[in-house]
Amino acid sequence: MDDLLLVIHALSVPDIMSFDLAVRLATRHAEHLYRQRPLLESPQGPEVTVDGQHLLAFCSNDYLGLANHPEVIRALRQGAARWGVGGGASHLVCGHSTPHHELEAALADFTGRPRALLFSTGYMANLAAVTALVGQGDTVLEDRLNHASLLDAGLLSEARFSRYLHNDAASLAGRLEKATGATLVVTDGVFSMDGDLADLPALCAEARRKNAWVMVDDAHGFGPLGAHGGGIVEHFGLGLDAVPVLVGTLGKAFGTAGAFVAGSEELVETLIQFARPYIYTTSQPPAVACATLKSLELLRHEHWRREHLARLIARFRQGAAGIGLTLLDSPTPIQPLLIGTSERTLKLSGLLRERGILVGAIRPPTVPAGSARLRITLSAAHSEAQMERLLVCLDECWSILAKEADSDA
Ligand SMILES: *Cc1c(COP(=O)(O)O)cnc(C)c1O
Repeated sequence: MDDLLLVIHALSVPDIMSFDLAVRLATRHAEHLYRQRPLLESPQGPEVTVDGQHLLAFCSNDYLGLANHPEVIRALRQGAARWGVGGGASHLVCGHSTPHHELEAALADFTGRPRALLFSTGYMANLAAVTALVGQGDTVLEDRLNHASLLDAGLLSEARFSRYLHNDAASLAGRLEKATGATLVVTDGVFSMDGDLADLPALCAEARRKNAWVMVDDAHGFGPLGAHGGGIVEHFGLGLDAVPVLVGTLGKAFGTAGAFVAGSEELVETLIQFARPYIYTTSQPPAVACATLKSLELLRHEHWRREHLARLIARFRQGAAGIGLTLLDSPTPIQPLLIGTSERTLKLSGLLRERGILVGAIRPPTVPAGSARLRITLSAAHSEAQMERLLVCLDECWSILAKEADSDA
């Protein structure tokens, strides 16, 4: 015992820290939950180079194929030549430049709302909106499958925080009964890991009965959904009355970076005055706003992108059913194949990768325990032939996995 104490005393603090961290990392490995970052060595697109391998990718959120669009690149270049690179300061000091201002006006027009406020990331937009709108003594109610940034925002707000059953208006109603103070109901528009749509008509009706405010984060709906890419609110025909707080992100279908909150004059002014994640950060590079102005134009007017994507989604679902795969019930470019264990999910993604296909293996804690899945995403940049190739490989790999399960049993 004395010897052991001597050894412990001889260890430096950094040694002990490294040891503790190594134990945590080893546990993560043993649970098949260890994360690795694939190194992308090409621009975003259907065909990518990752870790030296040429792959057909079905895992990005570049749903409309705008991330590497020549006109968007040109707008970024011209923006940098005109406005330089760095934002330089926060918006309230001297970092709010003309391209930011013009983009906010364009996003307000796009969403049909009085104002929009630009953020550097969706994570920050969500932290900002929730924490500025509710605090101690108030209530925030969230779908239990909401994006991590919304759940974190709820905790940070110090409001009473409760999660209702996924997409369940009756479960929301039960929690609304117990709500105190200002009450904010928060949901993803399109659920990021399941691809299904929030049942906004029902959720908004419950919220209205209790005078609760509804906030929708439509990171995955803007672009693919709605006749003009206006996302889930356009899809359901809901306005400011039903959804006073509307969040969109710009790093997905817009193909650039950043996010926005759209709503009333008073909402946006409240965020500017009180939202700490808005106030205490440098504005995004103005050239990025120039690029987004261009991608917004393409997103709104090039309907063929949405139409081609919708055809790919329909054909993919039909093809998957034909080979006996059960996809989650999703009308969006997010087409998850539920597997169950992390181990089997990694195995299947590994088999696909051997055949040149890259898909996301999504494991807990990103999704609930026991619901690990392949998150297959489609993009308007994919050709029919590329999607058919995915189906052929899925068929092959799924059979291999099934045979292995049989021989294990
Ligand atoms: C990606 C995502 C975010 C975060 O947006 P970033 O701009 O990537 O920080 C927020 N909400 C949802 C639903 C998302 O899918």
